[in-house]
Amino acid sequence: MRSFDHAARIARARELMDRDGVDVLLLSLGADLPYLSGYEAIASERLTMLVVPRKGDAVLVVPRLEAPRVAEGPFELHPWDETEDPVPLVADLSNRPLVAAIGDQTWSVFLLELLSVMTETTFVSASRLTTELRIRKDPAELDALRAAGAAADRVARRIPSEIRFAGRTEREVARDVAALTVEEGHDEALFWIVASGPNAASPHHEPGSRVIERGDPVVIDFGGSKDGYCSDTTRTFVVGEPSDELVRVHAVVAEAQAAGRAAARSGVTAETVDRAARQVIDDAGYGEHFVHRTGHGIGLDVHEHPYLVEGNRRRLEPGMVFSIEPGIYLPGRLGVRIEDICVCTGDGAEPLNDSPRELVPVE
Ligand code: ZN
Ligand code: ZN
Ligand code: ZN
Repeated sequence: MRSFDHAARIARARELMDRDGVDVLLLSLGADLPYLSGYEAIASERLTMLVVPRKGDAVLVVPRLEAPRVAEGPFELHPWDETEDPVPLVADLSNRPLVAAIGDQTWSVFLLELLSVMTETTFVSASRLTTELRIRKDPAELDALRAAGAAADRVARRIPSEIRFAGRTEREVARDVAALTVEEGHDEALFWIVASGPNAASPHHEPGSRVIERGDPVVIDFGGSKDGYCSDTTRTFVVGEPSDELVRVHAVVAEAQAAGRAAARSGVTAETVDRAARQVIDDAGYGEHFVHRTGHGIGLDVHEHPYLVEGNRRRLEPGMVFSIEPGIYLPGRLGVRIEDICVCTGDGAEPLNDSPRELVPVE
C-alpha cells in the first residue's frame, strides 16, 4: 500500500481556510475525506464526519461499529454510540464557526440537521478549497495514477486475444473486461462500458443483452482504482472487417485525440485543448456528433477538476491529470471514442495510456 502525507494535506487545507476565512471544514462522503485523512466513509444513514477546525485538532466522528475500519491518521477518533445523536456532537466540535465549508457530497439530511443547530453559521461548499488541493497531483499521486494507467493498458492489450465478441452479449463481454481489470492489478473495477453496433452512438451506454455481430464497432471504456487512484481509458474495436464509414470516422477521432494531446501543456487554458480536438472533428463535418467535453480531471475520483470544456479558462499546470477523449456518435449507426489519461508536464502532456489507438480487430 502506498502512503500519502495526509498531515501535510490537512496543513495545506488550513492555509486555504485562513485565506478564505473558513473556520471549520466538515467532510463526509466523497473523495475529499480520504484525500485528507486516508479514510473513506460508508454511505449510510449513520453520519461519518471529519471536523477540521482552522485551529485545534481534527476529529473524525464515526459510528462506533465502523471505528475499527479507521487506520491511524492525523486526527482524533470520536466514535458515537447507536443511541447518541452525532449532529450536536459535530456542532460542538466545530466550536461556533461563522463560516463552515461542508463536503459537496454530504447527504442533505445531515446538512439540514446541522443548519438547524448551527444557526449562526454560514455554510459554503468545501470544493472551493479542496479542488485547489486536489487539482495538482504530487509525486506519490502521479506514481499511483501511472500504475493504474499501466494496469488499464495491460487489460486493453489482452482484450483482442482473450475476449470473444461475435455472438456474445455486451453484458458477457463487460464481465470479462471487469475481471481483467482486477486481474491486472486494480483493487476494484469501477466501470465497464461495452457499446456495440448502434449502441456505440451512446457515450455512456449501459452494457445489455444486445448480441454483438460481425462488422460491429465496439467502444470499450473502462477503469478501476488502485490504491484509491483511478484509471480510465477507451478504445474502439471492430469485430472482423470494418465498414468504410467506421474506418473514416475512426481516423477523424484518432486525429482529434492526437491534436488534443499535442495542445495540452502547461500555461494553455483547459478550453484550448477542447478546441484543438473539436476543430478536427468540426473540419471533417462531424461537429454536431461530438456531444461531450473533451476531457475531465482524474485522481481519487474518476471525474474531477480540471474539466476540458469550452468556457473553462483555467490554465493547465504541471501535475494536473486529465483525460483526452473525443468521440463521434452517429445515432442508429455507430460510435467511436478514444481516451487516454495525460499528465500536464512543463513542456507537454505525458500520456499514461499507450495501448494501440487504432481500430483494433477482434473476433
Ligand atoms: Zn464518460
Ligand atoms: Zn473519461
Ligand atoms: Zn472513460
